[in-house]
Order: sequence, then C-alpha cells, then structure tokens
Amino acid sequence: MVFYSPGRTTSYPEIPPSNGIRYHYLGGGNEVGNVGCVFEDKYGTKMLLDYGLAPTDPPKYPHEAPNIKDAVITHSHIDHLGMAPWLCSNHRTRLHGTPLTAKISQMMWNDCYKVSRLEGYPLAWDKRDIDIATSSWYTHQFNEKWEKDSWKLELTKAGHIPGAAMLNVETETHKLLFTGDFDTRDSPLVSGAKPEKCDVLFVEGTYGGRDHPSKDETIEAFVDRIVEVTDRGGTALIPAFANGRTQDIVMTLHKHLPELDVHVDGMGKRVAQLQMEHPESLRDPSALEDAWRWCRRVSSKSDKKKALDADCIVSTSGMMDGGPSIWYLNRLRMDPKNAILLTGYQASGSGGRMLLDEGHVPIWDKRTPIDLEVSQFSFSTHAGHSEIVEFAEKCQAETVVIYHTDPNHARPPLVEELESKGHTVHTPINGKSTVLE
Ligand SMILES: [Zn+2]
Ligand SMILES: [Zn+2]
Repeated sequence: MVFYSPGRTTSYPEIPPSNGIRYHYLGGGNEVGNVGCVFEDKYGTKMLLDYGLAPTDPPKYPHEAPNIKDAVITHSHIDHLGMAPWLCSNHRTRLHGTPLTAKISQMMWNDCYKVSRLEGYPLAWDKRDIDIATSSWYTHQFNEKWEKDSWKLELTKAGHIPGAAMLNVETETHKLLFTGDFDTRDSPLVSGAKPEKCDVLFVEGTYGGRDHPSKDETIEAFVDRIVEVTDRGGTALIPAFANGRTQDIVMTLHKHLPELDVHVDGMGKRVAQLQMEHPESLRDPSALEDAWRWCRRVSSKSDKKKALDADCIVSTSGMMDGGPSIWYLNRLRMDPKNAILLTGYQASGSGGRMLLDEGHVPIWDKRTPIDLEVSQFSFSTHAGHSEIVEFAEKCQAETVVIYHTDPNHARPPLVEELESKGHTVHTPINGKSTVLE
C-alpha cells in the first residue's frame, strides 16, 4: 500500500521562511509518539528531527516528509524512527544519532516489519528499505559537536533509555534544544538529562498534569508483590518492553531480590547485549553486566519450559500483544498462585489494556479469560509534570514548545504552569508551520 506520493502529499511549505527559524511538525505535535519535526532557516538549511510511527492498532503515521538530506534520530523507539526506512529509501536521507541508537535501529525496524505482517497492517516501506536505512547512519558521540551549513549541532544525554539524545542546534538567530523523549531522573540504566541554556526548548509533554509516584515507593510495592507471589509458590509474569524496560526490571530484581530465580525472554536479550557493547551510554555498566550474568536468558524451547517453574519471568511484549509473554501467559493462567505484574503504560486496544479493563486477553486470536491477579507499576522513564517545569526553568528558555503530548489532558496543565513562570508557550499542531522570529 502506498501512503505518500513523494513530493506531492507533503504538508511542508516549499520555500524557506523569510527570517528566523521555522518549525513544522509532520507528526507528534499534538499526539504522543509518531514524531517528525522539520527545522529550517532562511537559507534553506533544514533538518528533520525523528521520523516515527505510532504503534497503535491500526498504526498512525506522520505526514509525508519533504525531500530532506539529514535527519536526527533522538533514540531507538519505534515512535521516533519507525518511518526512517521510507525516508532513506525515497530521499537518500542521512540518519544522525548515537552509535547505540544506530545499532539497535535495525532490530526495531525488523520487529516493526514482522508485527505489521502478523497483524496485517500496511507499512509504507518494505524489508529492502531496512538495508538502505541501516547503511544511512552517521553516528555522533554524546557531546561531540558537528556542523551542517552554518548550524552547530550536538547530542547530549536525554536519560530515558541508553543511547537516547537531546539535540542542541545553534543557528545564526537561535539556540534550540529538542528533548526527544527525556527524563531528568536517574533509572537503573541511565542518568537523568541535564538542562542547558537555550532560547527555545522543544519538550516532550507525555506526563503533563501528572507526577510520578516516588521511585522508592514503586520499587517497594513491586518487590512486596513479587515476594507475596513467590512465597505462595507462584510465578510472577512480568511483561516488559524490549528496549529499556526489560533491562531496568532485571537490574531492579537483581538489586532487591538477588535470591530469586529470574528468567528473561524476548528481544530485550539482544538489546541488552548491544547496550553492554556501549558502556558510554550506561550509568553503571558493571551493574548491567552483573544483573545480566545473574538472570537466566531463555534461548530454546526447553529453556522456555524450565522458565515456567521460575520465580519471575521478564518478557516481551510489554503490552501483552503477542511475543513470548503470551506463550507464558497461556501456560501460567491455569494456576491462581501465579500473577501478572505490568510494568508500564498499556495502550488502548492492547492485550494488557483488555486484561485490566475486561479481564481477558486475545491468545492466538481467541478471547481468553484470565483469572490471575494483575497489578500495574509505573516504571516510566519520561519526565513527569514537575520535572518538565523545572527543566524548562533551568534551561532559561524564553519559548517552550510542548509536543509528544495529549493535547486535551496532558498539555493544558503544562501550558498553564509554564506561562505562569514567564515562558512563552507554543502548542504545535501537525501539518502547521510556525516561524520563530
Ligand atoms: Zn516517544
Ligand atoms: Zn521513547
């Protein structure tokens, strides 16, 4: 299926702005994920920041990107890089990012392609485009400066997941900071993002209006729950996203419950290997290595069967949409001593959401009632409301552009508080341009 007709279906203006910097969201301006944003100056120097898709059911795609030679990919989550293969194959775009983001990207695209086949939803690119995208990377270490025309660029640590970067852009007229997904709090894997002085801050507002519960309390409740389940002889099934969450959870278990027998399955195993090859992206590389040596990695059918007797199974998919999670659930569901511990947000339409709301999960297309105890814990690595406000203040940003956000619930409370602190606040809409004078 063809979504775009290159050069003809883009919402992007043909001529550069007459002065200042223009920004234009192709996606992710007034929604979570699906990010794509173009910066351009009066000389026609332009750059795309992220080009993802929203892995909802059915998926959402950003507007068509204009012909653009350079794109920065902030991190390796599919909502930030899912459409890059289309970009590279149609426009020969160079992808800029950290070495770890580049390494993980191919796996994320392959998985996206596989899921699109299984679920029967269309993608704008095919398997050959993955090869083109994989060979389109130009990698940059954190804090290494590079240039594009008159722009000075630099990637700095965004927290969130290993390899995740914020982009600093210094143009003739403005200093811009684009956060990608970020968190100022430390997680087991990464240190929190540090503010930097800028004129205009483009900040993700996923958690506008909401503050996270304290990390210590969340970990305590999570640990207590696992102890309850294992004490009664049950297995705790812990669905977790592959890229970031799986490793955070294994490190947390290793630190707080080292006596347990923890098995790990799914794509998170390969991601962990790549993370360990890039210690510069980790807060404490030896902590990940120790945790990884300690847990048991499932690699065969017989390992899978052995895992059914474990204390904990950490596995993808994190939203119980297929993957080994479902294989384990189908076997563990018969024994009420077992329990499910969800470790993140469950999107509407996902298996995890159905489990929470209706008590059933589709198992190989069959609506299956699940009588196990289910609990949900927030291990989010997105900045909460207070962290966003504090970050903007410390960046001394005159203007704050809030994107990657629910425009009806999350964004309004952020707008209100940021304005009360004296910032000029922009609320971008996909497909509409704004010029920063
Ligand atoms: Zn995101
Ligand atoms: Zn992300």
